[in-house]
This record gives sequence, structure tokens and C-alpha cells, in this order.
Amino acid sequence: MEILQTKPNIEFTIPSMEPALELRRYIMEDIPSMAISTTDVMINNSLYDSCDFSQMIFLTPLYCNPDDFAFARDGHLTLENKPCTEGCDKCQVLFDLNVICPKGKLRNITNLDLKKRGEAPVEVIKHKVDGKVSPLTLGKLARVGEVKIVCTARLGYPTEHTRWSNLAGVVICIPTKSGVRFTINNNGKLPVNWLLDKIKSKYDQLVDKNELVEKNELVEKNEN
Ligand SMILES: [Zn+2]
Repeated sequence: MEILQTKPNIEFTIPSMEPALELRRYIMEDIPSMAISTTDVMINNSLYDSCDFSQMIFLTPLYCNPDDFAFARDGHLTLENKPCTEGCDKCQVLFDLNVICPKGKLRNITNLDLKKRGEAPVEVIKHKVDGKVSPLTLGKLARVGEVKIVCTARLGYPTEHTRWSNLAGVVICIPTKSGVRFTINNNGKLPVNWLLDKIKSKYDQLVDKNELVEKNELVEKNEN
């Protein structure tokens, strides 16, 4: 596996077509990320219904290294070494969305209004357009409207819900002179080196498996 570039897209080649489709499926489905998965709506006087509003919040892109956290559904110990029963700092991160609209004005509620509780290594991704931060609109307030929402982020897999999709696309170009070329549109939710390590170890696993199948077929042929 040869890495061609890591920015803006991740590009690499593998020498044979054999594991390419399975590797593509793995990259799209089996790499976890963190996303807001529940909202507790205390006050919502915005122009959006609470359900629509929550759907927008769920899709807010967050950056983290999944290895720093545990899956909420897996049995694990809290940072204080006690069994986790109702969520802890190891498996969830809370964000507050508290916004009050200035009198007589309209105000957009954006991803930049999400304020993290504590120091967990998770960040709301600030997308930039032409070098300037471009806020992602989640809802709208009018007059003296107010929202007060507690959002809980957890780890999950892209196969569970779109909120955990962490790549904008995976393209396979076949076959080039140097092999099969992968282009991954990374949208910044995962550390690039961490992502590449995951892909490399899966690739090694697939190649090992394929070599084993070929060896077994050879042995069977010789025995016959
Ligand atoms: Zn926990």
C-alpha cells in the first residue's frame, strides 16, 4: 500500500484489485466516529419544531479520536474505575445549546453556539470558506425566543445512522499502472493518521486472508 497524499484528500494505491471492494466497504461502514445522538430539549421557542431542530443538531460534525472514548453500549469502567451504568466521561460528552434572541431581531442558531462541558478531547468542526469560518445553521430564533438544549455526543458506526458517517466519499480508480487507486474525501471528523492506520491494518488483514485462501486452493489442487 502506497500513500500518495493526505491533503486535501487521502490518496493511496494498492497493487491488486482483489481486496479493493472489501476495503472500500470497510472504510465506508466500519470506522466509528463521534456524533450528538440525543438531545434533551428544556426550552424551545425557536421557529423550528423540537424534532426538526434535533435532527439538525445530530448532523453537526464533531472531531475526535475514537480511541479516546468507549462505546456507551459496551461494558466499561468510568474514569474513577467503577462500572458505567448511565453514561460517563469515557463514553459521552455533553454540549449546551443556550441561546436567547436579542429583542426585535432574528438570530441564527449555529454549530458555533454549542458549548462543550468539561475538557474532553472533542471539538465542533468549524468549516472554513475562503479562509473564513462559515457557521452551520441549526435553527432560527425570532423576537425574544430562547432555546436551552442539552446535547449528548457518543461514538457510533456509519451503518447505524447518517450522523456517524465520517467520510464524504470513497472513490476507487481501476486499474492504474501502479495498481488500484483510492481517493477518500475526508470531511475532517477523524485524525488523518489514525484513519490511515485503521485502513492499513485492515488491508494487511485482507491480504493475509487472500494469501491463505490461495495457499489452501493450491494444497487442494496438489492433493487431487
Ligand atoms: Zn460510560
